Amino acid sequence: MSSDESKPVLERITASSAIVGSSFTVRRAVPTKARRMVGAWCFLDHVGPANFDRGNGMNVGPHPHIGLQTFTWVIEGEILHRDSLGYEQIIRPGQVNLMTAGSGITHAEESLNDDAGRIHITQLWIALPDAERHRAPDFKHYPDLPILHHGGFKITLLVGSAFNVTAPTQVYTPMIGMDLKSEGEAKTDVALNPDFEHAVLCLDGTMEVEGELIEPGTLLYLGLGRHSISIACKNAAQALLIGGKPFGENILMFWNFVARTPEEIIEATEHWNNHTHFIEVKNSPLKRLIAPDPSGLHLKTRQE
Ligand code: MN
Repeated sequence: MSSDESKPVLERITASSAIVGSSFTVRRAVPTKARRMVGAWCFLDHVGPANFDRGNGMNVGPHPHIGLQTFTWVIEGEILHRDSLGYEQIIRPGQVNLMTAGSGITHAEESLNDDAGRIHITQLWIALPDAERHRAPDFKHYPDLPILHHGGFKITLLVGSAFNVTAPTQVYTPMIGMDLKSEGEAKTDVALNPDFEHAVLCLDGTMEVEGELIEPGTLLYLGLGRHSISIACKNAAQALLIGGKPFGENILMFWNFVARTPEEIIEATEHWNNHTHFIEVKNSPLKRLIAPDPSGLHLKTRQE
């Protein structure tokens, strides 16, 4: 961490990799040891792009969440979302699913293709501030988001305001999210809120951000205090820009839960594993996930 937290920085962060199922890589860009959050964004997985064989798509069985919003942005492929509120929603490229867990929700996600298919998605979590984290659960599908064209880039505004446009996605802290995609050479400046911290994750090709070249697997953390950044590419490329007001609350993340204390995590884990409190997902053909043992959390958080 820099000595002055309010200054712009250029910090390259390598995402950690995990193989999910047998067919594709997941790159975890947030959280890492180097950076736990970017604004309220507390989790960022980049899945694919990858082809998968029959039966090897992205299938995540019923599991619970508390204290966060899940934000799914699809680049390629189709995924079916089912949740405990009764929503069944197919999400396609260019669309966002935004699920507000609040006090508790359960959902499952499955690849639609019975046959072979292709997947390229990002899955993010947004931490809810203390005043909002116990709110009633909710799910919203956004089939159309604002699209802008600047300097050869197709820019999809996912969250917040930019270029005098505001995205419809409902969030609870000041933040920004946008996708920048080009089929060839492109260059533009993006105006930023200097009170936000920002980061750019390359999703495809090679992107040049403030003169720094990044490829998939690298998150470029930009710090606070920037009024704009330059983004360019020589060939087809795609990147995700995220940012927000520094969250200002210490969160505790464990499995699929975002809370403040180990007691809250232990309670949520017991509720899920004992089939109490959480409402089940209806009609999911997938196996319910089991929460891992949270004992040891007390010790861990006391040492930190
Ligand atoms: Mn989930």
